This record gives sequence, structure tokens and C-alpha cells, in this order.
Amino acid sequence: MYFDYSATTPMDSEILDLYCDIQKKYFANTTSLHSLGQRSNYLYEKAKREILETLKVKNHDIIFTSNATEANNLSILGYLSKYSKGKVITTKIEHPSVYEVFKHLENNGFEVCYLNVDEAGIINLDELKKELTKDTLLVSIMWVNNIVGSIQPIDKVIEILKEFPKTKLHVDMVQGLTKIVPNFDMNDIDMFTMSTHKIYGPKGIGTLIYRKNIEISPFLYGSSAQNGLKPGTFDLGLVACTCRAVKKYFPQTLNNYNYVNKLKEKLIEGIKKIDNIHINSINGSPYIINISIPNINGETIVHQLEQKDIYVSTGSSCSSKLKKPEKTILAMTNSIDLATSSIRISLSHLTKDEEVDKLLIALGEIKK
Ligand code: PLP
Repeated sequence: MYFDYSATTPMDSEILDLYCDIQKKYFANTTSLHSLGQRSNYLYEKAKREILETLKVKNHDIIFTSNATEANNLSILGYLSKYSKGKVITTKIEHPSVYEVFKHLENNGFEVCYLNVDEAGIINLDELKKELTKDTLLVSIMWVNNIVGSIQPIDKVIEILKEFPKTKLHVDMVQGLTKIVPNFDMNDIDMFTMSTHKIYGPKGIGTLIYRKNIEISPFLYGSSAQNGLKPGTFDLGLVACTCRAVKKYFPQTLNNYNYVNKLKEKLIEGIKKIDNIHINSINGSPYIINISIPNINGETIVHQLEQKDIYVSTGSSCSSKLKKPEKTILAMTNSIDLATSSIRISLSHLTKDEEVDKLLIALGEIKK
């Protein structure tokens, strides 16, 4: 029983078939001048266009990277590369692929503000307003947190930033896209990222969508492929699969949300009846439920559940092997105990009702 869909999802078989099909029929390099190459290039341009159309984004372009980690790095560092110092703002609960970039910036002359979050994992907009100056270069705030599922008020952040024309906005949308119906217009965001393997597509591809007039510098130098921002031959199959995943799952967002929300409610009700479990997630995405069982290490809980063929995680897969307190839980609760005894249960439209029943029984049987 897989409850780790926020770490990665199984591939949709229709998307996997598409991948094989593209490899067979469109193997030519998109940069080749001959007609075979141009056929591939046509498909590449069409995929980009269709992703933008599906998301209703008009003045943006797309770069495909190897994953969202690379897309986050490329957007933040690539945009800031023309500055050697200045103020930038992020939150205390970003995914490491953003958080560690800001740590790097901090060590290299930038003034970094890490916004606090409340007990529900939400930033304080007054703190954001207080920290913003007319010279702030960049604000990076994730849409949906990957550890607890808290949803940031991106609509309000966009409103606030309208008074700061110099400040650019970056949003990590990895856990939000196709999961939560956006209450904001993506056209208002300067740079945002997504990850195909989180939405039933293949691993090995991430996407950066950026406003056309924003200057981003590359990390790598080479051909002029992908506007020179990500030079080198890319896998057209992965691009086509990203397009198919967005086209298939973005329109299903509300339906799947409603289904998963019912599962989440059942799970929460069941958990409340078990002694000694603390629920860390409050009112966020129904796809992510974070709990702590005080005095038991999160890793121990993961392995106890694993013995029953139940797969959950301690949090972000990038930090789950480190026995450090989970930084999001720490920022929300200020409790080392809760932050070292937490596990993340993540759901999907593929999760079955009876799997939730079995998980609840297994959670009730966790031994100290
Ligand atoms: N951002 C968030 C919120 C995530 O949850 C993840 C993956 O867990 C990433 C970024 C990185 O995605 P990728 O695995 O594609 O590098």
C-alpha cells in the first residue's frame, strides 16, 4: 500500500506508452535541419504551446530541465546572477531545492529573509510586507508545502508585490499543480516550476515556466537549444509526456481533489481516535497528512509500517535519510520531539478506501 505519492508517483500507463511511441517515431534531434529533425522540433514546440495553453499562460516561455530541483536552481540563481548582493525573501519551510539555494546566496553576500510560518505552516503577510523594500530582488514562496501540505496565499502575495515592480516572484508549484485548483493567475508569476514525476509522468524532467522578458543566465554553456538556458540534446519523449500529464491531470484537479479530500477526512477522523498521535497538518492540501507519534523516531515508524507493506515517508525524500529534525515541523511547532517523530502520509486519486482502513489499523498498532 503506497502512501508516498508526494515523493513520486507511478507512471500512468497511457503516458508510458506515449514515451515508447515517441522514442520509436521521433528519435531525431530537434536541432537537426533535415525533415526528420524538424518533425521532432514541431512536436517539441507543440508540447510547449499546449502546456502553456492548458495552464492559460500567455507571456511566458518554457525550459525543460532534469527535474524540478534543477528548475528551481536555474530560475533563482540564473535570475540573480547579474547581482552580487541585495535582499531576497523566502520562507523557512521551502523544499531543499529552494531553501539550500537561499543558504548558498546568504553565504555569498545576499541578505536573505526566511519568513516564519504559523502553527498551520502559513506565512504571515504582514511580515512579508514589513520585509519588502523597493529594492528587494526576489521573493520565492512555495505554493503547497511538501511536508505538511500547507497552502500559501499566493493570490495575496501577488497583490502585495504589485507595489514592488522591481521584485520578481518565483513559486515552486511542484506539490500544487494538478492537486489544488489555483486561486491566482499564473500569468502574474515571473517564474514557476513543476515536476513531471509528481504527476504520473516519468522521472528525469522538470519544467521552468518564466516570463519572456525576464533575464535568466544559464549554468551550462553549449548549444543554443532551449534558448541557450539548458543547452544539450534533451529527451523529446520526456517533454511529450510532461505535456500529456499536464493536459490529462490539470483538468481533473477538482474531481481528484474532491475524491482525495474524502479519504483525508476519513483518515483524520480515524487518527483522532488513536492515542498519542499528533496531527501536524492543519487545513492544507488533502494530499499530504503529516503526523507525529511523540517519542518514536519517524524512521522507526516508517519501518514498522513497511513490515505491513505500507509505504510512507519521514518527509522530503531528499532529507529523509538524515536524522535531523524536520525543519517544516520545527518551524510550525517549535518542538524537536514532534519534528523528529513525524511521518508524511501522501494520498492520490489512486488510493483506495480500504487502503486507508488498513493504514488506520496499522497506525493503531505502532509499538514504542
Ligand atoms: N519542490 C517540491 C515542493 C518538492 O516536493 C520536490 C520533490 O520532492 C521538489 C521541489 C523537487 O522535485 P524533483 O524531484 O523533480 O527535483
